[in-house]
This record gives sequence, structure tokens and C-alpha cells, in this order.
Amino acid sequence: MSGYVYDFVDGNKDLKDLLGGKGANLAEMTRMGLPVPPGFTITTEACRAYLRTGTLPAGLLDEVEDHLRGVQAALGKTFGDPDDPLLLSVRSGGKFSMPGMMETILDIGLNDTSVTGLARVSADERFAWDSYRRLIQMFGRTVFDVPAEAFEAELAGFGTTELTAGELRDLVRAYQKVFETHTGRAFPQAPHEQLFLAIGAVFRSWNAERAVLYRRQERIPQDLGTAVTVMAMVFGNRGDDSGTGVAFTRDPATGRRGSYGDYLRNAQGEDVVAGIRNTVPLHELATVDAASYEQLLAVMQRLEDRYRDLCDIEFTIEAGKLWMLQTRVGKRTPAAAFVIAAQLVEEGVITLDEALRRVTGEQLAQLMFPSFDEAAAPPPLTTGVPASPGAAVGAVVFDSAAAAAATGPVILVRRETNPDDLPGMIAAQGILTARGGKTSHAAVVARGMGKTCVCGAEELRIEGDTCTVGGRTVHAGDVISIDGGNGRVYPGPVPVHPSRVVRYFEGEVTADGDPLLTAIERLMDHAGQVARLGVHANADTGADAARARRFGATGVGLCRTEHMFLGDRRVLVERLILAETAAEREAALAALLPLQRADFEELLTAMDGLPVTVRLIDPPLHEFLPPLEELTARVARAEALSEDAGHAGVLLNAVRRMHESNPMLGLRGVRLGLVVPGLFEMQVRAVAEAAAARAAAGGDPRPEIMVPLVGTIQELEIVRAEAERVLAAVPGAPPIRIGTMIEVPRAALTAGEIAGAAEFFSFGTNDLTQMTWGFSRDDVEGAFFGRYLELGVFAVSPFESLDRSGVGELVRIAVDRGRAARPDLTVGVCGEHGGDPASVRFFHDAGLDYVSCSPFRVPIARLEAGRAAV
Ligand code: ADP
Ligand code: MG
Ligand code: MG
Repeated sequence: MSGYVYDFVDGNKDLKDLLGGKGANLAEMTRMGLPVPPGFTITTEACRAYLRTGTLPAGLLDEVEDHLRGVQAALGKTFGDPDDPLLLSVRSGGKFSMPGMMETILDIGLNDTSVTGLARVSADERFAWDSYRRLIQMFGRTVFDVPAEAFEAELAGFGTTELTAGELRDLVRAYQKVFETHTGRAFPQAPHEQLFLAIGAVFRSWNAERAVLYRRQERIPQDLGTAVTVMAMVFGNRGDDSGTGVAFTRDPATGRRGSYGDYLRNAQGEDVVAGIRNTVPLHELATVDAASYEQLLAVMQRLEDRYRDLCDIEFTIEAGKLWMLQTRVGKRTPAAAFVIAAQLVEEGVITLDEALRRVTGEQLAQLMFPSFDEAAAPPPLTTGVPASPGAAVGAVVFDSAAAAAATGPVILVRRETNPDDLPGMIAAQGILTARGGKTSHAAVVARGMGKTCVCGAEELRIEGDTCTVGGRTVHAGDVISIDGGNGRVYPGPVPVHPSRVVRYFEGEVTADGDPLLTAIERLMDHAGQVARLGVHANADTGADAARARRFGATGVGLCRTEHMFLGDRRVLVERLILAETAAEREAALAALLPLQRADFEELLTAMDGLPVTVRLIDPPLHEFLPPLEELTARVARAEALSEDAGHAGVLLNAVRRMHESNPMLGLRGVRLGLVVPGLFEMQVRAVAEAAAARAAAGGDPRPEIMVPLVGTIQELEIVRAEAERVLAAVPGAPPIRIGTMIEVPRAALTAGEIAGAAEFFSFGTNDLTQMTWGFSRDDVEGAFFGRYLELGVFAVSPFESLDRSGVGELVRIAVDRGRAARPDLTVGVCGEHGGDPASVRFFHDAGLDYVSCSPFRVPIARLEAGRAAV
């Protein structure tokens, strides 16, 4: 009969959708002939039905009874037998591992009568009463929401020494009173009632608040439901020849070969997982119980052979007999992920393609952050939620203004942050908050900025210009160190190690003899061989381009020329903006020309032989002028002193004249080129002259000119005609391709026409996202994205990971229409999404030629480009 329940002998490891990871793997181990206590699994389908209707689906109880008979037969024991009771565990387990998020209830089946039966057959009264009090506690908490503290208070009343059988019996009575007080009913004595109530409670634990939150963070769908595994109890708490442990077939921290784990004598599994008592390293089991240890090693080898990966397991030894209670492909650190994947290739267990599938760009990114020298770190002051990775050291500031005004590195410490803190967050090295989780404002914004953040450090008490934590006081100006990878907050400066992986990419160390670097080298090589998508870098300087090239970029996909107008050169742009006559304007442009030319030469030198895509100036010009408030204040001050405001007055007029309500939708990009005479012309000439100079010097310059913010082919045609005229007039310049960004939705929709005047497209997915959603990128993150993420409107900001169904659809349309019109059209992307792993996969699927991202993300994109292709 097939329905809602699968016996262990009828399932297998590929049925995770239905049986959950735990149930499927217990079934697999049973089929392999490993020692698993008998049991069965109720499917996730039954859970979904239960969560829909609030009642256990019809027929489920009969099926459970039916399978229970099988368990009884296998063990020769009866559930509910007052003399020698069969006890059960009722365990949760969904398709994806959610450690500790849902509920498990042990020792189901004990009652006031059978507890004495158990004491008799086990000849261990302590054990029997201890099991019973555990049941009442777990059952009360899980099924009836009796607060854990209510039980703990009773336990505390019994002191700290090990309880005698008599005391445990008294504790059971006390627990039963607690149960009655909180539920208004007696603790259920009927074993079957216990079982059915427990099954319903485990189903409901799918929707426990922490489980919902965990799934949202881990991007696990909310509608899968949990399976429920019911199995015979085995007991690690029956004396010194019993015990329980967890083990790994390789070291989950470093990937090193060999078995690792912890063992706890005379204990139940919960004690190990909860870290309640002190464990010993697994290998010490060899001296306690050599036979079980040998058997365990053999089991672990068989599991690795079967799963072809690192497995973690939970086991229990009852009176010298080994039982397997759980296994799964184990979680591991990013470093271990690379090392193990490469090892398994070396061992002939998996192919290089498979190895590539088993590591992620996100893991590589983790390995590229600097880290603290743990050995040199003092004990942490406190630990919060690791919200955005990295290691940051700085002086404490308690408000945004102080952060912005600081000259050295600072850590912004706030109870929580809001949009007003943005300037401070930008200025700070790292952010520490007392409140909020991974989706709080601080966390979301910090991740967006790639800034180290620890949030929700609840022990922090912040008052004015001091904060106390753990009895210590931290003043403004005191140096602290925060680790965004593990949430630790240290007093004083902790030495920071640059990432070994970054040093390797920089060419400062070789991979020789280093297992991690060797693994990365091997997998990156393979990624390069299979990738269809090229990886370029966003770089504005020779130094950035050179670094990107060392990191494996095969071109510059975006040079933002406006970045060349900052610093000392701002005055030249000011002069251009304020020019009232053609002569003044031409003089300003003439002063800028040689500067831009020199910049381009540097860039072309660093990327010799590879394409360098130069984007003509994009932002609104008033971004180059001082802010309105500052000028207003300066002029007001001058007037108050009856002085002439002079230049400030002129600037103020210009800023007022150029004011725009929505500058991002205003006079910028190609619109500037059509409105400000000579500006684009100067930039194109600088590119051509730089290329000519490089060619004359024996180089192989390959610049391209890219026009931003085009919405219609007419705009592009006008700019193109002018650019072609300029290029033709520069002797010695190589052929220079002209293309456009696709970042206005209209450009994506009319890409077929626009391709007529463009030799290449580059998707500006930041603007495209902004304009497709109608979100102002500079405002939303602080204003409402935190709330949107909490509500699950989206699981991740569309500025972080490309929105496939909306923005992605525009990308696909533009690629199709553009290539239909011009088959040899080159298509790339240069928004932030170019370095986001999930987005890279999309761009591969959409058939782009390359992605372009910040130099630091280049290795990540290279790895993901390879992964997308296998
Ligand atoms: P989680 O999914 O949170 O790890 P588990 O279902 O694995 O929860 O249960 C927690 C612990 O309870 C396990 O570590 C295991 O040792 C113990 N346990 C579960 N079922 C049994 C059983 N049948 N016999 C003995 N111990 C059990
Ligand atoms: Mg477990
Ligand atoms: Mg743009």
C-alpha cells in the first residue's frame, strides 16, 4: 500500500522531496544493510495536507498503525507494553537541512506504568526516570508550548549534582505539575495519543517563526513542508558501554582526509548537539570500545563511497552495539569545499565538471575577504549576528556625523540604523548594531556596499557617547575590531591577515604545497576551459586594470570616464559648466583633453591586446558642483558680512539653474552629448589620440566607445556620426568600435533598431533595474528594502541579484532583437550584477558574450562562468 508512509526499507536517498533529507538517508542506510533502528517516514505531502486543513489527513493514522506493527515485529517489542515498552522518536526533516530549526521528540511511549517496566528490564532506574522526564519536557514544550523555563526552574531546584533515581522520580512529578498548570490537562498516558500529538506538532514546527526566518535567509521555499520520521529509540545513556556522537568523514573545516568528530559517554544525542556536556575527540572511542570504533570507520567509508562526498553522521552506541541515527552530505567551510572537491577528483571519485558544480562563487568570495589573526585576538567582548563578511578595525563612533567627520578608520556603533545613518555607514570601516537580524537595515545596506557588518549584538547597551558590554565600557574613540564572518566583536585592534587566496591571484604566492590554493588553481583552470562567458572588469585606472588582468580579466568592460573628472580636475569641469561663450567652453575642454588622453593611455597599456570599453560621460553635470546647501550657506554668510559672495554666488546660480527633481532621469548620459557642445567630441578625441600614441609606441590598443543611456536609435546615430568624424581626423588611430549601453527599457524593446547603429551592446543592469521597477536605487535600500525582504516581496534585492522574470526578460528581448538585426553583435553586461553568481548564470543562459564586474569580483565571475557551462 502506498500512501503517506514509507518504511525505511522502501525509501532511498533520492526521495528527499517526499521523505525529507533525514528520512531519505535513513532509508538509504537501511538498504545498505547498515545498523539503523527500524522505522518509517511520513511524507511531506501529509505535512502539506495537515498545514492546509489543520487535521491529519484521512487514513494516515491507520497507515501509521500498520507500519508500527512492522517495527514491533522487527524488534519483538510492543509499543505501550507496560513491562518492556517499545519507545519511539518522532523526528522532523525537510528536503533541505535546517539544523535545529524544527522539532524532534524522544522517548515517546513512556507513561506512569511503563516507566517502571523500563526500569525493571533495563535494570537501571535512573535511566528510566531520566527518559521519562525528558519526554514530558520535550513533549510539553513542542506539543503544548509549555515554556522551557518552567521546566528549567524545577530542574534548578534539584541542585547541580547528578540526580539519583529517587530525585528523578520527584522531578517527573514536578514536571507533570508544570505540564498540568500550563495545559490544563494531565500528561497523556496513552502511548498512541502521544504519538499522534507528536506527529502533528512536528508538522506544525515547519511554520515555527525561527524556521520561517531561516528559510527566508537561506532561500528555501516556504511551501515544501517537513517529513516526519518515526523510529525505535536506542539508548546511549545506559551506562559506560553506551554513548553517542557525531562524526565527519573528512574535516569539515579544512577538508583534510580522515575521520573527525566528538563522542560523549553515557549520553543521549541531544546532549551532544546541544553542547551541554563535554565531549571527547572521536578517536578516543577506540580506547573505550575498539570494536564499535572499527565498525564505525567501516560504515563511514561505505557512506563516502555511496555519497561520493563528505558525509556527516549521528550515531549512538547502546551497550556496545552501534546504531546509525542520521547521515547527510555534510556542510563545510568554503575552504573545505574547494579542497574536498579537488581531492575527490584526485581520488578518481568525481569528474572535474562535478567538482566545479560543488563549489560556488559565494564560497570563493568568502575566501577573498581579509581575516583576523585568531591567535592574536583577545576574548571577544560579545558576539552578534554575522551580517556582512570582512574584518574591520576602527575607532568607535556613535553617530553618522562623527563617522563622516573622522579622519582615521571608524566603526559606526548604533542601536540600529536608519536611512539618516547612510553617510556614516559609507564613511565607516564597519558597522555594529545592537538590534536587528540579517535583514535589518544595517545588514542589507552593508551587504550592498560590501562593508563589514555585525548586527543584533544584543548585549550592547548604548547610551550617548558610551556603550557597555559584559561589564566593560567602550567610549567613543576606543578602537574595536569586528568580524563580519562570525559576528565577534573584539576590544582593541586585532591584526588583520590579507586573504591568502587574494595574494595567490595577485601572484604574490604560488599554489605549491598549499592544498587550498592548489584546489582553487585546478578548479579555476577547468572553469576557464569550459566557460562560454568571458569576464571583463570595470576599471577606470591603469592600476585597477592591471589588477583585474592579474585576476584573469580579459578586457575592461566599463571605464567610467566621469571618475577621471574628480579631485583637482573638478575645477576644469566647473569651468566647462559655467562657460558662457563658445571660447570659454572650448578652453575648458582643451584643458581636459590631455588629462583624459593620459588616463586612457595608461588604461590601454595595462590592457594591451585586450578590449577596453570607454563609456562617455554619464552622470548629471551638477554632480561636479558643490551641493546646494553648502553654496547657500556660503553665500548667506558672505551676505551677512556684507561681502561679495563672488564665485560662490556664481556657482549657486548655476546649481539653481541646473536643479532637477529626478536627476537620475534627467540631463545625463547621451542627453549631455546632444546638449553640451564639444563634450563627447573631446572624449572621443582623447580616446583616439591615446590609441594612436599606444600604436605608435608598438602597443596593441583596442579601445571601444560606448554611449550611455540611449533610448532611441536617433540619439545614437547623432553621436555616432560625430564620433566617426572625430575618429577619421586622428591619424594613426586603430579602428575603434562604437556601441551603446542598454539600460533604458525602451532601448531594450527597440534593440533591433538600435543594433543598426551599434557594434556592441552592454547592459547597464543597475539603471535597467531602477527604471524597470521604478525604484530609485539611491533611496530604496534605506527606505523600504529591509521591510520588503522581511515580507518576502523578494528574497534578495534586485540590485544585488538580477530579477530574471522582469529585468531578465528585457535582457533576453534585447539580445534576440539585437542579434537578429546584427548577427555579429557583441553583447555584455557591466552592472553590479556582472559579479553576482546567480546573475552570471542567467547571463550565460541568455547567451551573452561576457560579464564585466569590479576587479575584486573577477575570479568569482570566472568560476561562475565555468560552473554555468557544466
Ligand atoms: P535535528 O534535525 O535537529 O538534528 P534529530 O531528529 O536529528 O534533530 O534529533 C536530535 C537528536 O535526537 C539526534 O542527535 C539523535 O541523537 C537523537 N535521536 C533521534 N532519534 C533517536 C533514536 N531513535 N534513538 C536515539 N536517539 C535519537
Ligand atoms: Mg540531527
Ligand atoms: Mg547606467
